[in-house]
Amino acid sequence: MRVLLALGGNAMTNADGRARVEDQVEAARIAMEAVAALVAEGVDVVITHGNGPQVGNLLVKNEVAAAVVPPVPLDWCGAQTQATLGFVLMNALDAALGRRGLDRRTATVVTRTLVAWDDPGFSRPTKPIGRYLPADEARLLVEHGETWEDRGEKGWRRVVASPEPLEIVDAPAIAALVDAGFLVVANGGGGIPVVVDADGVLHGVEAVIDKDLSAAVLARSVGADVLVIATDVPQAVLRYGAPDAEPLGRVAVGRMRELAAEGHFASGSMGPKVDAVCRFVEQGGSRSVITDLDSIVAAVTGDGTGTVVTPDPTGTVSPDPTGG
Ligand code: ADP
Ligand code: MG
Repeated sequence: MRVLLALGGNAMTNADGRARVEDQVEAARIAMEAVAALVAEGVDVVITHGNGPQVGNLLVKNEVAAAVVPPVPLDWCGAQTQATLGFVLMNALDAALGRRGLDRRTATVVTRTLVAWDDPGFSRPTKPIGRYLPADEARLLVEHGETWEDRGEKGWRRVVASPEPLEIVDAPAIAALVDAGFLVVANGGGGIPVVVDADGVLHGVEAVIDKDLSAAVLARSVGADVLVIATDVPQAVLRYGAPDAEPLGRVAVGRMRELAAEGHFASGSMGPKVDAVCRFVEQGGSRSVITDLDSIVAAVTGDGTGTVVTPDPTGTVSPDPTGG
């Protein structure tokens, strides 16, 4: 069985969101223990991950050091965090595999993801990134072409495009490594967003692709059977935060779409996860799961906990009245 595992930000930072080196190494150790446990069950795992806190740190360095070293664009920040987190995850996974006596090799692919140059996100940016700044500092960056929004009390925050992932450019390389037996880390942070120009040349763009939606595209392109989105809650919840909140177990994709349309899943967090797990199953995936790290082995190998999205049951179509 082949599984695409998408790790949330919490799997890469301290529980309180801190991202010191030691916090990230420790979070990676815990996450890769879970991956090694899956591998021990005979599952081939392809790993992808978020990079929000890490890119946030790089953006602060850009700002603070701008007078000394030239700032780098957001696509470069994405590439840098893919490489660094890939390195940290490979070390952690190698160690976890070694402790279990599993003889498997790991690899990281710096991954580009194609987006449309005319994606509506570029004219209406929605994804907040980096730290809050006072109005006068933000104004300076607006003059440099960035989009910043007034967020009231907290100050101003930069917003960028969050374009639809169309295609994982480097999926063939990832699939070849998986076929050769490697455990691969790829498409971190949703992939480095690239657009193709009239001459067919790829260019990085300043945007942030949703890592869960991108994970669904990667899962299909590497032929994964199951998409697992690991986050900091064990299940998606109906009426989240209300006294009558209700965790969701197994649900058919059509029903999950109805629940999403009813507004149960917040747009900046659980919403894209639910969209991603639905897309994967709608496009032919056999099952997708939203759960926390502690539950992923049970979620993949047994009925487990977690929110499990399955294809719509067949045979519910009304019988053909002609009998044919
Ligand atoms: P990650 O960093 O793993 O991508 P996010 O913080 O983006 O995770 O999304 C997970 C969060 O979504 C949970 O911690 C929870 O606070 C929030 N959330 C919003 N709506 C729901 C819901 N309906 N059910 C469960 N969690 C929800
Ligand atoms: Mg988070």
